[in-house]
Amino acid sequence: MQFRAFEKGIEVNGTTVFAVVDGIGAFKSLAKKYLLEAGIGTEKNGEYVIDLNGWYSHENWLKAFQNIARDIGDSVLKEIGMKIPENAQFPPWVQDIDSAIKSIDVAYHMNHRKDGKVLFDITTGKMFEGIGHYGYERVKDEHKIISACRNPYPCAFDEGIIKSMAKKFEAKAVVHHDNTKPCRKNGAESCTYIITW
Ligand SMILES: [Zn+2]
Repeated sequence: MQFRAFEKGIEVNGTTVFAVVDGIGAFKSLAKKYLLEAGIGTEKNGEYVIDLNGWYSHENWLKAFQNIARDIGDSVLKEIGMKIPENAQFPPWVQDIDSAIKSIDVAYHMNHRKDGKVLFDITTGKMFEGIGHYGYERVKDEHKIISACRNPYPCAFDEGIIKSMAKKFEAKAVVHHDNTKPCRKNGAESCTYIITW
């Protein structure tokens, strides 16, 4: 089910919030309205303020996404997803489409924490559970990757992230939502995307 946190005590970092607000383009002022309503960020002298080193409630963050989806639509969620990799920094091992798609799950965990603990430890490479995953499965001998995404973010948003990451290394990459698999828009816990190039 999109927009429903899997567990309590999850937070998202200020850098991610900023990337979304920055990436939303024409809808920036609207996005700020939805974020303020959900209790994400504050307003100071008419300016929207996000603490880049701060942490924000994942539940409220998803609530803001839900309201944006309800009022503005899926195309905006996809657009926001597309922008996220454009603003992010990637580790040096991200060098091709395979490592790019794999890195989404690592970045996802680095930007969320549970009970105050970041869900990916960069010194040990250990990942902790609580927010689901972005899948990576390479189809042997084909230019094809299957990504099953079991997380509370919306379907269209994840499609945008995956498309943007794939295109970073393979300009011709195409991403399809696998309509033969469950979809979070229909209450399922995951969506599956097929990346080909
Ligand atoms: Zn879906």
